[in-house]
Amino acid sequence: MSPSFTRRQFLTRAGMAVAAIETLDHLGPCCALAADAKTADKDLFELKPIADGVYAAIAAPRYKVNCNAAVILTNNGVVVVDSHSKPSAAFALYREIQSITKMPIRKIINTHFHWDHWQGNQVYAEAFPGLEIITSERTRANLTSANAGVGGTGYIEKQLESVPKEITKLKDDILRATSPQQKARLEANLRQTESYLEELRQLKPTLPTRTVSNSVTLTEGGREIRILLLGRAHTDGDVFIYLPKEKVVASGDALIDWMPFLNDGYPEEWVQTLSALEKFDFARVIPGHGDVMSKEQLPFFRGYLADLIAAVKNATANGASLDEMKQGIADQLAPKYEQGMSKHPLGQYRERVGLNIEFVYKNVVKKG
Ligand SMILES: [Zn+2]
Ligand SMILES: [Zn+2]
Repeated sequence: MSPSFTRRQFLTRAGMAVAAIETLDHLGPCCALAADAKTADKDLFELKPIADGVYAAIAAPRYKVNCNAAVILTNNGVVVVDSHSKPSAAFALYREIQSITKMPIRKIINTHFHWDHWQGNQVYAEAFPGLEIITSERTRANLTSANAGVGGTGYIEKQLESVPKEITKLKDDILRATSPQQKARLEANLRQTESYLEELRQLKPTLPTRTVSNSVTLTEGGREIRILLLGRAHTDGDVFIYLPKEKVVASGDALIDWMPFLNDGYPEEWVQTLSALEKFDFARVIPGHGDVMSKEQLPFFRGYLADLIAAVKNATANGASLDEMKQGIADQLAPKYEQGMSKHPLGQYRERVGLNIEFVYKNVVKKG
């Protein structure tokens, strides 16, 4: 579907994209929320050391979203958890990793199949031919499915159709902008979207080379890295990456510092899966989105899911319509959750709560 490039050509292109990264980036159904042009001049990732040789790569907010990554150094090379939404973003992180170590990247672990967590795999695979890319069996199946949800090769095809329409709409919105600030913000979003489309057209989807169907322990260059499969949650194939000695978990999107994205998820099982995770001994979490979290935020996030499900079931039993529920439950849960779920420019409470209520109503209550 795309012309292929030599590695040198690709890295040159990616380097150019990195140079333009202030105006790049993406957002889609997983993370499609308000842009914040004020953040656009920050670096794409902030590498935060959180244990000896373990870093959280926290993604800066972008209209075209990137996930966070975990960077784990070992005596033998580097393990990276998740690879963002596009090659230029993965390349930007790769350059940052090179500033802390010249050791090769040995393994990538994809936490789940969503577009913003794996579309940069090719950068690492092209740079390191012996690279192993690990995920769950379910996630690999989703990555090769035409209709798994907001990720995988099928979703790339859908984006190639939808992103040009998004560009047309942004151009239209720019013409109708009512203030210079709004116009500037839309123009920045347009540049990000055009760059993203260009990358999508060149993308060489790079699938995992190894799958696991149960929890496994890797002993990688002297470091113990566990890949935990604890049940369905944000998707049917989520894995958690657990470092028992360092007491750190990389959680993908099953535990984040934003409001959860439920589509492709299993809300009731998600609550149970988080309880299974809680039993492990860890102190800090590198979430798929937002900032580094403490373990204490797990019950808060799980509590939101449990309270949301209970509220929708209760409102349904009381004969409320979906529209009534959306307003009523959003207000009912706000005192407990709005502030803690609105710490960042993206993924805020009021932007997602209505979608969450609708998803639970249609997929848990009506089908339950
Ligand atoms: Zn994500
Ligand atoms: Zn996700």
